[in-house]
Parts: sequence; C-alpha cells; structure tokens
Amino acid sequence: MMAGIEHLHRHQVDFNILTVVHKGNVGKAKELLNFYREHGFNYVQLIPCMDFKSQHVDEPGVYEITPQEYGDFLCEVFDEWYNNGNPEMSIRFFDNMLNVYLNRDAELCIHQGECPTNLVLEQNGDAFPCDFFINKDWKVGNVRTDSISSMLAHPNFDRFRLLKPTLSENCRTCNWKRLCYGGCPRNRKWSPEGNQSSPDFFCQSYKQIYSYAHERMLELGKRLREEMYSNNLKRYFKGKTPGRNEPCPCGSGKKYKPVAPLIFPLSCNRITNWDMNLRQRAMHLIKRKIHLAKRKRRF
Ligand code: SF4
Ligand code: SF4
Repeated sequence: MMAGIEHLHRHQVDFNILTVVHKGNVGKAKELLNFYREHGFNYVQLIPCMDFKSQHVDEPGVYEITPQEYGDFLCEVFDEWYNNGNPEMSIRFFDNMLNVYLNRDAELCIHQGECPTNLVLEQNGDAFPCDFFINKDWKVGNVRTDSISSMLAHPNFDRFRLLKPTLSENCRTCNWKRLCYGGCPRNRKWSPEGNQSSPDFFCQSYKQIYSYAHERMLELGKRLREEMYSNNLKRYFKGKTPGRNEPCPCGSGKKYKPVAPLIFPLSCNRITNWDMNLRQRAMHLIKRKIHLAKRKRRF
C-alpha cells in the first residue's frame, strides 16, 4: 500500500486517507496522526468500524467501538488537528464542524439537515437512496429500465427523505443540533411504524467532542470570519461597506444584513447561532429604541 501511495506522491495526485476506527486503533489517535504527518497524508476521513451484523438494514448499525471510545478518540484527534489555532491538516469531521462556526452548512451527510439526493447503484443496475440502505425494501428502481426522475420520485425515496428530519425529542432540543442534526438515520433505533427514532448510536461521542471543542472552534471561527471578511472587503468591495443583501464578504455565501451597526460595527449575518444571544440583545435594544421613539412622538 505504501508503494502505491509513494506512486501517487511522485505524480502529485491528491488523495484522501479513509481511516476505519476500530478496537485496534481507537486508543492510538496521537500515534495515528503522527504517522499521517510523517508521510504527508494531509486529507483524512474517519469512519467508525461497523460490524457485519449491520447488513440488516432495518436494524440499527452495530459498531465495534463504544460511543465513549469514539468520543475520547475524537477529542484526542481534535487536539492534534487544532494545532494551537492553526490547523494544517484536513480532517473531514472537524472541517465540517468548522464550516458551521463559519456560518455555513456541513457537507457531510450525517450532519446535514437532510440526506442528500443520491442514487447508489449495484453491479446489476439496482438503485438505492444510500449505501447504508441496500436492501430490496429500499430499492427505487434499476438503471436499465427506469429513468433517473422516476427513481427519484419512487415512494421508497420519499420514505427515505422523511427519515433524517424525524428527530427524537432529545435531538430537537439538543444544544448541538445545528452541528449534528441527529446524526445518521441508520444509527438510530426506529419505532415499528418508522415515525419515531432515538438519537444516533454515537450521540454521546458527538456531545463529548462538541463540548470539548466548542470554545476553541468558536475562537477559530471568529478569527477566520474576520480575516475572510476584511480580505474579501478589500478584494471585491474596494474597502467599502457592502449594501444590504449583497453577498456577505465573510464568505458564508449568504446575504449581507447589517444589524445594529452601532452595536456591532462589522455586523451582518456572519453572526452565527453561537452569537444568537448577542443578536437577540441587539434586536431587543433596537425594538426598545423604536418603542421609546413612538412613545415620544405620541406625547
Ligand atoms: S442515511 Fe446516513 S449515510 Fe445515508 S445519506 Fe443519510 S446521513 Fe448519509
Ligand atoms: S448530539 Fe445527540 S441529541 Fe444532539 S442532535 Fe446529535 S444525536 Fe441528537
């Protein structure tokens, strides 16, 4: 394998390392990351090892490692990735987390609000909505006989789309919902009717890493947003404040919405959910000012 990787390096081909986290490496995060750095493996993805029993798609995934082990592993990897506020390596799980702190959406399906619309094909052309749902009960058609639009409109696809947003009460009220969105439907326990689910099997791991990394992610996100804002302001707006609804220079891809410029001189929708308290306080002050002004006019 290392000879193959050397070949890719020699020909400057980019590649990712998909790391299966199992009993043998779950306690060795630092060692693993050192090995990756030493060999110039700069793009890393993590996937907890599933047991073969998980082939029964109507039962929750069975994993080799416990949520506690995976949570500890993620925390140790985070320390390595964070690198005193200067990440030098791409680890998909943390890149996704950072995206949310940058006021963008995660790109990892597990942590998006909805499962993406994909078709997974088997060798015989049978199509399914996700590779975790390869089973006759979830088949949406076959590429040899069905059009893409008919497969995407198949009732099994509609049934699949409903799974992810069907969150348990714990997920609906969870402080980390914006980062997690209830994880993967395949890792939840479902009621026989399929209309109620438990949180993801790795809920505890997610809560552990989210609270462990929060302060540092917040700081990093703020710094990067400020940097992107001022660089883009110089580059695209010639240093002038953007107009309302112009693309926000922070790079979120959203519209610029000035909010109480006196309170936040650089404010716009760069304010993330984490800053909601500040936003709410600002809105409260504005509403109060309007109320007082109206009262003054009445007298
Ligand atoms: S079921 Fe899980 S793995 Fe499949 S698309 Fe949805 S979140 Fe992703
Ligand atoms: S951390 Fe747990 S409770 Fe919170 S959204 Fe994720 S799975 Fe649900």
